[in-house]
Parts: sequence; structure tokens; C-alpha cells
Amino acid sequence: MRYEFSGDPIAVVVCHCEHCQRQGGGAFSLNLIGLESQLSVDGTLQNYQETGENDDGVYVNRRFCGSCGSPIVSELLQTEGVIALKVGTLDDRSDITPAVEVWCVDKQPWVDLADIAVSMDRE
Ligand SMILES: [Zn+2]
Repeated sequence: MRYEFSGDPIAVVVCHCEHCQRQGGGAFSLNLIGLESQLSVDGTLQNYQETGENDDGVYVNRRFCGSCGSPIVSELLQTEGVIALKVGTLDDRSDITPAVEVWCVDKQPWVDLADIAVSMDRE
């Protein structure tokens, strides 16, 4: 499976939410926020629909590579058409620096990121 993201992202965002910690097996995720129309996928992504802890509806689609299991993109149902592309899966991620962090309510206490312009408790 290959994909291409074209154009500029809306933002580069660190997400500290518990869902991202579980999905990535780490302390946070790093995401390019963009529009679904900016992403073209060569192949088929598998999907896991995750429900929120306090919601009775679907909370987020987590799409992943069926061959290697890597998380590729998440789509929040509340913001249809907007995607969060997992930066670690890009071929070239050398020029990507986050400016925003969200869901700081779930941030691990030892995490202290430098040069983050905007920090939000939630999103
Ligand atoms: Zn998250």
C-alpha cells in the first residue's frame, strides 16, 4: 500500500489522547491535519471504528495498512472530510515540526515538548 498527500497541511499536530497512545503504543501521535481530498491511496486501507468512552456513536475511523499494520490516517466523525495523517509513515518527514498539541489532559507527565506554539487541553 502506498499513499500520496498533496499540498500543504492545515497544521502539524501532536495528539496526547489516550486513543492515540493505545493505537501507536507510545506517549503521543504526530499528525498532518489536512483534507480527505488531499490524500490519494494506492491500495486498500483497513478500518477500525473506535467509539468514544462517553459517546454512543462512532468516534473515529482508524485506517491502517492491512499488510504491515501501520496506522496511516484517522478521521474524526465530528469533523467529516478532515484527516489526521500519521507523520511517521511518510517517506520524508525530515521537514515536519509540530506547532500545536492537543488533548493535553491525557499527556504523560514526563512529556515536555519544545517550541509548541499552541497547547490545548482537548481539541
Ligand atoms: Zn489522539
